[in-house]
Amino acid sequence: MNMNHTPISSPPTAASAARFPHLIPEPQIVRLRRGTVERPAGISLEADEDVRSLGRQLLTTFGEGDYRVTVRLDAEFAPSQAPQTAWPEAYALEINPREARLTARTLQGARWGIKTLGAILAAVPPHSTIPAATVVDWPTLSTRGIFVENKWGPDLMTLDDWRAVIDYLAERKMNTMGIGLYGCWCVQYDGRITEWIMTPVPDHPQLRREWTIRWYSPTNEQWQELTYLPRIFEEDFLGEIVAYGREQGVTVVPFVNSLGHNTLIPRLLPEISARDAQGNPRGTGYCLSEPKTREFVTGWYEHIFKKYFQPHGVEIFHIQMDEVWEDFCQCPRCSKHPREKMLQEWVITLARHLVNCGVKDVVLYNDQFTRHMDALDETFIQRLREEGLYEHVIVDWWWYDNDRIDPKVHPRIGRGLRAWVKPMTCYFNWARYNPYVHNIALMLEMAHAEGAEGAVSYSVFDAAWGREFDILAEYAWNFRGAGPVHRFEEKWAQVRADDEVLEAVRWLDRAAATAGYGVLNYYTYTYPRPNKPYPRHYPQEPLEQLTGRREALEFIAHAGARARDLLADRSGELARNLLAEAARIEAYGVYFASLLQVKEAVDKLARGPSAAATAPGGSVLAELVERARAAVLEAMRIIEANKPHYMVPSYLRDLSVLYEFVLQLGEDIRQAQEGRRDWAQVRWFVEIPVAQRGINTAT
Ligand SMILES: [Zn+2]
Repeated sequence: MNMNHTPISSPPTAASAARFPHLIPEPQIVRLRRGTVERPAGISLEADEDVRSLGRQLLTTFGEGDYRVTVRLDAEFAPSQAPQTAWPEAYALEINPREARLTARTLQGARWGIKTLGAILAAVPPHSTIPAATVVDWPTLSTRGIFVENKWGPDLMTLDDWRAVIDYLAERKMNTMGIGLYGCWCVQYDGRITEWIMTPVPDHPQLRREWTIRWYSPTNEQWQELTYLPRIFEEDFLGEIVAYGREQGVTVVPFVNSLGHNTLIPRLLPEISARDAQGNPRGTGYCLSEPKTREFVTGWYEHIFKKYFQPHGVEIFHIQMDEVWEDFCQCPRCSKHPREKMLQEWVITLARHLVNCGVKDVVLYNDQFTRHMDALDETFIQRLREEGLYEHVIVDWWWYDNDRIDPKVHPRIGRGLRAWVKPMTCYFNWARYNPYVHNIALMLEMAHAEGAEGAVSYSVFDAAWGREFDILAEYAWNFRGAGPVHRFEEKWAQVRADDEVLEAVRWLDRAAATAGYGVLNYYTYTYPRPNKPYPRHYPQEPLEQLTGRREALEFIAHAGARARDLLADRSGELARNLLAEAARIEAYGVYFASLLQVKEAVDKLARGPSAAATAPGGSVLAELVERARAAVLEAMRIIEANKPHYMVPSYLRDLSVLYEFVLQLGEDIRQAQEGRRDWAQVRWFVEIPVAQRGINTAT
């Protein structure tokens, strides 16, 4: 795995060669040549009208001047080094001392070439030069991008926020952005099921899901409450996102759940809900024998496709079909058939309908087919062929582990069906920091070895995970990239920031890898568990698991603090978002390390005078409680100041549970010290915490 800046016939000096800029993603071929290039004082663009608009970015960066950039579209352009499937996105770029020439077969190829040229010229150091070079470049995978799940954050994004994500992807030559339009999970907040529907459904005004989020704002010094419909739903701007994507070379793809992750529609339209053995609607999944189910779902998908996507030339639809588990309809008609058969025929019904509407590619997850069932069998393949659908279907193989890939998640077991791989780039960000670079590297290696055509990560968008988005862009475009993960990371640090930012990220990684880290965050306790009260007893549950782990907690605090120091006083989007992660990690560490000591002391005081003799004095307890309170408030303040507006409510909701609890704890301890409360009656959770306050009115 070498840097493929391969000098050829007349190599420049080692010094100038070393100065050729690093790029993300790594171009396939860079040949350095004689001659040197300075940073242009201005650009003159020679290009056909339809290409000119692509060059605007160059003019904005460098202004008008006499460094000539010629862009030529050539329908015959077919670089011999690139596979034919990559030609539509390929380009060749000759960068000379006084001019640059770009050739591409299509507008998309020209777009990527212009981005490469802009990045190279912008990286020429002031009063210095880079070697002249020829770049021949194309993507290894034809589909590269992220899927933005319907979650907290994306649901508050404005049209401009979505446009910014598209720009971010296009900067990295990623050409795909999925948007989750419908998905449901389980009860987590306020006693209500976690559900999103992101576009209105015609004739079904009841199909909507409003959210309420409560949190404490250190900036405003008050509790806040926000009740909202997803912005994309309320303002119905999905079509404008799709149109903007098309302008920027990014295909926006609808992702819509149907059997699994589906409660809102069957709850509100019980006539199409899956039924239990007694025939009652269950409010989860569909009855696939009920003709109205097919009528509703195919009609709805057709509406989504024809209203928002087809007008902008998009011909792809992701039907998900994830995690149905055993949760199929148990009505007499459905029960007559094996579940595998029901699943297969439902996919065929949807795919056939979509293809008839003009969809070319129908994507579905492997998960239910290969992990929960054995349904990707010859019968299914034969049915796809009979229906003329085989060529239209893409299986999206997902796995998010950093260390290994499940044996049932492999394109090679997909019976020749087209394949995407789906690593994770950024998720659970509202709850905690977690790195995914090794998962991405593993999954992309598999994509290469097993012939996948795409990599579209599972994700939401948060710039703190810039390393993950960049490594996906790198390995999806060029499997060799700059080399293995650590080599990529060194390059990444140079391109996006500097070594200190990389060091900060590595401190965060170490915190996340510390035993106990995973049990701290409140989100883990939003899930109901058998044999546990609900709302869950937080922070009591993690405190009980953390007995004797104070050192690990102090290390987490230390790692967060080190990262904060390294990231302080920077203005970039990456560093500011990482700073908020560092502050949150530090706060969790300080908070739980302090509480662990408070709990030990209070437990001793509760056992009576002889045990109490070894407990710290009252002022020490008050200081520890104050240390915890100050840490969580500081993290919340930094999050408010540095995270985008759409992430702030959900980030602060979970931290507000910690803040609310520490206020109660301080008061309980004061009362105990004043003899108004038994030490044994000091409480270790808030009965109905702020994140669950709607539970009393939940329907
Ligand atoms: Zn049924």
